[in-house]
Amino acid sequence: MHRAVRPAWTCGGCGLDWPCPTRRQELVAEYAGAGVSLMLYLAACFVDACQDMPAAIAGNLYGRFLLWPHTAASDAWNRPRSGVDPGRGR
Ligand SMILES: [Zn+2]
Repeated sequence: MHRAVRPAWTCGGCGLDWPCPTRRQELVAEYAGAGVSLMLYLAACFVDACQDMPAAIAGNLYGRFLLWPHTAASDAWNRPRSGVDPGRGR
């Protein structure tokens, strides 16, 4: 399970920074057609991460939590769930 391990916000499945590439793909699939809901969820995670890691640079956390969907999934989440190709991504 690629869940966040707090307070370091690493991935419990692969050890990378959360959300890891696998979790990002899962989130894109889970929130297909619901981009606003995905951003609300990620914003809540971002706030929690800022509280858990007060020494982290906020801009880095912002990019890690909130910028990736715009480049990685902006077209995917606007399509119906059946339109998501699980093989896409980098
Ligand atoms: Zn992971």
